[in-house]
Amino acid sequence: MPTPSTHRPPAIGFVSLGCPKATVDSERILTQLRAEGYAISPTYAGADLVIVNTCGFIDAAVAESLDAIGEALAENGRVIVTGCLGARADLVRKAHPKVLAVTGPQALAEVMAAVHAQVPAPQDPFFSLVPPEGVKLTPRHYAYLKISEGCNHRCTFCIIPSLRGDLVSRPIGEVLDEAGRLVDAGVRELLIIAQDTSAYGLDLRYRTDIWRGQPLRTDIETLARRLGELQAWIRLHYIYPYPQVDRLIPLMAEGLILPYLDMPLQHASPAILKAMRRPAAAEQVLERLARWRALCPELVVRSTFILGFPGETKADFEFLLEFLRQARLDRVGAFAYSPVAGAAANALPDPLPETVREERLARFMAVQAEISRAKLAARVGQRLIVLVDEVQEGRLVARTYADAPEIDGKVIVPGAWELDPGDFIEVEITRSGSHDLLGVPVE
Ligand code: SF4
Repeated sequence: MPTPSTHRPPAIGFVSLGCPKATVDSERILTQLRAEGYAISPTYAGADLVIVNTCGFIDAAVAESLDAIGEALAENGRVIVTGCLGARADLVRKAHPKVLAVTGPQALAEVMAAVHAQVPAPQDPFFSLVPPEGVKLTPRHYAYLKISEGCNHRCTFCIIPSLRGDLVSRPIGEVLDEAGRLVDAGVRELLIIAQDTSAYGLDLRYRTDIWRGQPLRTDIETLARRLGELQAWIRLHYIYPYPQVDRLIPLMAEGLILPYLDMPLQHASPAILKAMRRPAAAEQVLERLARWRALCPELVVRSTFILGFPGETKADFEFLLEFLRQARLDRVGAFAYSPVAGAAANALPDPLPETVREERLARFMAVQAEISRAKLAARVGQRLIVLVDEVQEGRLVARTYADAPEIDGKVIVPGAWELDPGDFIEVEITRSGSHDLLGVPVE
């Protein structure tokens, strides 16, 4: 048996920026580093080199990523860049010529090769240093589970397909094995993510795989059904309103997966959706919502929108406001359109002045704020199961099924309670605000 080295293992610093998909990439790199025996340094000073996983989605994220690279160079001096901004290596190298290596997103092998070239792996890696579920950046009780990479769509405001490539789905058995390991390790909520979750399996022609002796079709319905057998909340993100989503709603009504849909709609006007080249632009979203709610009255829908897209007329904007009033979505995020370097939308005619984009955003959010407030007020008096996120002095911070971590609201439960993050309790909702709820435990 090899004896452990008495030398300090080489230590790698890590800065993780960007969306949940980038977080999963970071977790994979950290898991591999630990598997090979590297230590992870929480400080720049203690690191032999620093990896910066960047985001390049909008110009503000590019600036934040470039700043983070600059800080790591100033504090440590030895920096490897990966992630979405890494796909634009020329831009990174122009701003920071001293970086040691630049790779794009999902580039585990390239990142590890760059690390090995700079700081060789220790001679005696301890594989036991890595827990079976891998290294996670999220709290212990919830985890993001990425089921595919890339995207087959070409929305005109988005550069993700040029950064991350076309859709590549993970084998269904591999996803289920990872989900099982996470739940065995104490994860109580799995957040299912991809660029386009409902397209899962399309690139594999929905092939049938054998997993643990059973045939399983590679599609989102089969996957959701099998995930629903785990002892955890299953929450679906980035679902487009394709017809196959109709088949997910009964799973929600049965209680197999959470009755929660994160469905980025971006607009409602047919002309703007066409200019955006959005997937499922022609689907009758209002009709679908009504049908889904009839099947599963608890259904909660979150969505995101872009205001002031090039060519958005007053009539398009009013159409969108009317859609919003009728759709009565539970949670909405919105942004004023801002050009992204490399996006096709930059070439569209009739860009709107910033003041108009911002003014429309404010009006849009004011309409939605009323709806969200009314929907939260309707929760008062309900008894709901909540998942405890944090135990703070004098109160619990928790969430119901209606709220995804980090993007939606919270339930605050005042008092000192003998509970831990990851515990489920039943509460009665006593008050509502514009974003959060207040509750008391049900005896
Ligand atoms: S669906 Fe559109 S917005 Fe989403 S990743 Fe694909 S191209 Fe980008």
